[in-house]
Amino acid sequence: MQREGRTLSDLQFHRIPGMDEPPTTWATSNQALDRLICRHHRYIKPAARIAAVIRQELEAIFPLLDTVCRRTCPWCPDPCCIVTKVWYDFIDLVFLHLIEVPLPPGPLAFRLEDSCRYLSSRGCRLSRLIRPWGCIQYTCPTQRKNLHQCRPDDETQLDLAINKIRDRRYQLETEFQRAVVWRADMYPCNKMLSVQVKCRPLYERIFTVGPFSD
Ligand code: SF4
Ligand code: SF4
Repeated sequence: MQREGRTLSDLQFHRIPGMDEPPTTWATSNQALDRLICRHHRYIKPAARIAAVIRQELEAIFPLLDTVCRRTCPWCPDPCCIVTKVWYDFIDLVFLHLIEVPLPPGPLAFRLEDSCRYLSSRGCRLSRLIRPWGCIQYTCPTQRKNLHQCRPDDETQLDLAINKIRDRRYQLETEFQRAVVWRADMYPCNKMLSVQVKCRPLYERIFTVGPFSD
């Protein structure tokens, strides 16, 4: 990880033609997370290694997901992206920061009643890698049926891979928190204050403000 000497302006957002600049709350939340990672970059390497493995495991299942999506989504009468509410959770963002890819340009929607703004007539405008885990891991009943009929072995492999990645995301969260809290452990009397200062605003911003508003 090349975190030393990194500045906030190094933070990059994926650009989508016709889409505005990243909303302010989204940008400042991600800047706060980036600052946290930069400040603890030496201690965050184990978490970064887990994120790199997750990336490999995700990329291994994308071809199968692409195939099943091509067979089902273009003829779907009731696309899940219109009706489902999904958002980036904290560990989605930690993962994207640690693998150092340009970040999504903003949340999926600004209000609960809105559909995902990344849905286009040709499907999702985000690459699979930077979609929320909620989107990546979901296969609908039509796709399950298709997989079960055409590629039963692949269906089993996919389920195993998804379970493994889910477990690894828990490991990532644990390891990330350990790395961030580790320095606070050096100063036990400041530990609670330090943890609150570092983690709470991020969780609050991302969970309460981030998903649907700016
Ligand atoms: S994943 Fe299933 S529900 Fe969603 S658009 Fe594709 S076919 Fe439709
Ligand atoms: S990010 Fe993409 S896959 Fe997820 S809900 Fe939006 S359009 Fe659908």
